[in-house]
Amino acid sequence: MPGLSKVWAHFYRDKAKYKNNKYNHKAYCKGCVAQAARVVLNEENRALSEGRRTKIRDIPEIEASVVERMSNACGTVVKFGSFELRTLKGQVETLWRYLRNCSYASEAAITQAEQNLGRAEPIW
Ligand SMILES: [Zn+2]
Repeated sequence: MPGLSKVWAHFYRDKAKYKNNKYNHKAYCKGCVAQAARVVLNEENRALSEGRRTKIRDIPEIEASVVERMSNACGTVVKFGSFELRTLKGQVETLWRYLRNCSYASEAAITQAEQNLGRAEPIW
């Protein structure tokens, strides 16, 4: 049994399975989680400046809370402001395809996705 795919460097892997899927876990794109966290941070900054908050959380703490919200959500989409964060099926090829088109992924991650998707042998 090989270890986890390299694709998981770019996604959070939930302990829970995706929908009724036997094998695939729920997954959240790290770049998209970071974007959701920036939206939350902006809102917290605004609340701070308006005196509705006394302090703001740091990014790692906000990201952890975003992932927790996704994990506890009933549906597959959660809105953070106008940004929609999606729960993905944690299947390797699905994740590489998502990463290739992600607006928040790094150039290096997108290149890695293109290389994996361009291979003749099955993607792992
Ligand atoms: Zn993404």
